[in-house]
Amino acid sequence: MNKHLTWHDRAKGLTFQTKAFIGGKLVDAASGKTFDSVNPATNARLAAVAECDVEDANRAVAAARRAFDSGVWSRCAPGERKAVLLRLADLIRANLEDLALMESLDTGKPITNALTADIPLSADTIQWFAEAIDKVYDEIAPAGPGNLALIKRDALGVVACVVPWNYPLMMACWKIAPALAAGNSVVLKPAEQSPLTALRLAELAAEAGLPEGVLNVLPGYGETVGQALGRHMDVDCLAFTGSTEVGKYFLKYSAESNMKPAWLECGGKSPNLIFADCDDLEAAADAAAFGIWYDQGEVCTANSRLLVEESIKDRFVDLLKARAQNWQPGDPLNPATPMGAIVEARQTDRILSYIEKGKASARLVAGGEQKTIGGSSNFVTPTIFDGVSNDMTIAQEEIFGPVLSVMTFKTEEEAVRIANSSIYGLAASVWSNNLKRVMRLSDSIHVGTLSVNCMDAAGNIVPFGGFKQSGIGRDQSLHAFDKYTNLKTVWIKF
Ligand code: NAP
Ligand code: MG
Repeated sequence: MNKHLTWHDRAKGLTFQTKAFIGGKLVDAASGKTFDSVNPATNARLAAVAECDVEDANRAVAAARRAFDSGVWSRCAPGERKAVLLRLADLIRANLEDLALMESLDTGKPITNALTADIPLSADTIQWFAEAIDKVYDEIAPAGPGNLALIKRDALGVVACVVPWNYPLMMACWKIAPALAAGNSVVLKPAEQSPLTALRLAELAAEAGLPEGVLNVLPGYGETVGQALGRHMDVDCLAFTGSTEVGKYFLKYSAESNMKPAWLECGGKSPNLIFADCDDLEAAADAAAFGIWYDQGEVCTANSRLLVEESIKDRFVDLLKARAQNWQPGDPLNPATPMGAIVEARQTDRILSYIEKGKASARLVAGGEQKTIGGSSNFVTPTIFDGVSNDMTIAQEEIFGPVLSVMTFKTEEEAVRIANSSIYGLAASVWSNNLKRVMRLSDSIHVGTLSVNCMDAAGNIVPFGGFKQSGIGRDQSLHAFDKYTNLKTVWIKF
């Protein structure tokens, strides 16, 4: 990038791909309708984007099915599939700055986060699954002499992916990378708040050599095009990331249509347990602040419930209050800004209404304010409630904002009981220097990912997903292939 240009200058020159991508072509919605994509940090309109609906879903699924049946991708040599996806990863990297800028403009997240996390991690995920394509072997069962029992993995066919706005490109890549690597065709629906990087991804995939129809992208609303995909009789699998409420709709859509598997990555209310035997409370406080304020707390694994052993609670809350000063919201395009804008006014209002509920039941010790910056009021200061009990609304419901609820415990048993008293089970963190305790907790805390003396441990190499109402199935790691392939037994007698 030209060092003399600011991100604001760059934003003025940025253009957006606004059409749907169906069967290898950029097209308007069949209805001709569009919807606005808005920058929540300024409330400025970024682009008018194709508003897809049922007819577009039908066209995209038909294109995906044709591509799948033709074998152009589903039956091509593994090395060929790998080469295309590796080129796609490289193209994402080559477009890092434009994609990061797009993501920041569309969602309000800090440009620095998009540059250092969202976009590079998206490329890494595409690369990781591309590399797996010619390294994963199938199985032979011990069927005895005169028998050869093969256990193979078949691609499913047409996979529909419906993703949220908090990590638009990254969540899309978490779905499409293993789905495409396994040989499926994909129809992707980005969130209405953040369609721009997914639309650009479609162009990059075509440039990388992905055959037409193998990846289709349908911007539009969940209730219309999202539901149409969920209910489609010719969609073989639905992969969703978003709220628990909408995740349940997909189970219903599946039950009322063709019984397609609906894999769900949903909400969380992750606990962060700080024991008095933690030997580095400063590091624990840094991580606790990151765990709730990074990306404005709009993170499914946000550590929104802080459980501190009673004897160190006051000291720990003081450490956190000091850190809140360093997490004040600001212009997302300033590279020094730690926290950006909330994704839209509706979500800002939702967060503020939880803050009001918190004020009525617990003690506000930091933040809790709405700020107007650059003409937009979608900014909320880093917020801490002390004196929370786990049955309060702010301890039970996912706020999806920069709001931390602090509770105390006296014993490990009590800590576990509180941690598990949630409809969610996505992630948890534990800070302790006691190995035996850590091992006990690794059994007793019911979550998909437990981070010990660290925060938000995740990566392509390990599965990601939730227990309980946080979801069904796992993204990331080779286990993700379980979602996008069917096991087939072929038994040969000779
Ligand atoms: P959301 O409202 O559930 O939306 C997610 C996606 O579903 C969007 O594309 C949305 O379309 C679509 N959708 C909405 N209503 C639908 C319907 N009736 N039928 C079919 N599709 C529908 O979630 P969000 O507000 O975008 O994201 C926040 C939520 O995602 C949080 O609860 C968070 O915990 C969760 N999340 C989970 C993970 C994870 O991996 N576990 C990761 C990130 C986020 P529209 O764009 O039109 O709304
Ligand atoms: Mg937007």
